Amino acid sequence: MPEPAIRLAAFAAVFVAMTLWELLAPRRPWAVGRAARWPSNLAVLVVDALAVRLLIPTAAVGVALIASARGFGLFHWLGWPTWLSGIVGFVVLDLVIYGQHVVFHRVPWLWRLHRMHHADLDIDVTTGLRFHPIEILISIGIKIAIVALFGIPAAAVVAFEVVLNATSMFNHSNAALPVQLDRLVRLVVVTPDMHRVHHSVVRAETDSNFGFNVPWWDWLFGTYRREPAAGQDGVTIGLPIFRDRAELRLDRLLTQPFRTPSATSDAAPLAPSDARTS
Ligand SMILES: [Zn+2]
Ligand SMILES: [Zn+2]
Repeated sequence: MPEPAIRLAAFAAVFVAMTLWELLAPRRPWAVGRAARWPSNLAVLVVDALAVRLLIPTAAVGVALIASARGFGLFHWLGWPTWLSGIVGFVVLDLVIYGQHVVFHRVPWLWRLHRMHHADLDIDVTTGLRFHPIEILISIGIKIAIVALFGIPAAAVVAFEVVLNATSMFNHSNAALPVQLDRLVRLVVVTPDMHRVHHSVVRAETDSNFGFNVPWWDWLFGTYRREPAAGQDGVTIGLPIFRDRAELRLDRLLTQPFRTPSATSDAAPLAPSDARTS
């Protein structure tokens, strides 16, 4: 199967699976629901894909192929076998994505880009796809630099991107996982209950659980938080700013980094019971 088909098939399979799981066994009641969010969250995905196609057509996998053909990068210089470079390269990419996520929270102008992901008023499978196109482009630039520096094999880059896409849809989903099972799965993969803490309106909680694939980096660097203070059912999702429903529109999502609203009266948290539209 050609590489783009593998990516698309994996994306479609996980998207459908998580959507069905959310429909059959939702974790929490909605604050806003799907109808007001899905069209723009999915439209952002299309904008991101177009921006990447137009501006970085080679993508990270293209750079991996060039590095490999020219014997460029640390793993090539060390003469490591492809399987070892692949496994270590995968782990390096995951650590870099974790570090990048922390930096996007700490550096004010990067936070302006990343906070669009956090401004969603519910989290579900589509939130895992909702990132500002400039954040996506910066992220790909960083990934390209790492792939070239280390000489990470193309197969590992594709595997990493497919897995990251899948785990992002999984850990943003509103799918219920029995608590006992969550504790077990959480030892290896970031679960929806773990990542939901990261989408809490409380800043200390927003600044925790940065991992997307494995929870280990959060344990290692002391950013792990097991539960939100208000509990999984009581936690308010989103940011103190951008709480107006109009902010869920595509044009508003794209302009959020360039606006500075104050957390005013419309910052009143939407309790989960406020509105259950779907
Ligand atoms: Zn974040
Ligand atoms: Zn998230």
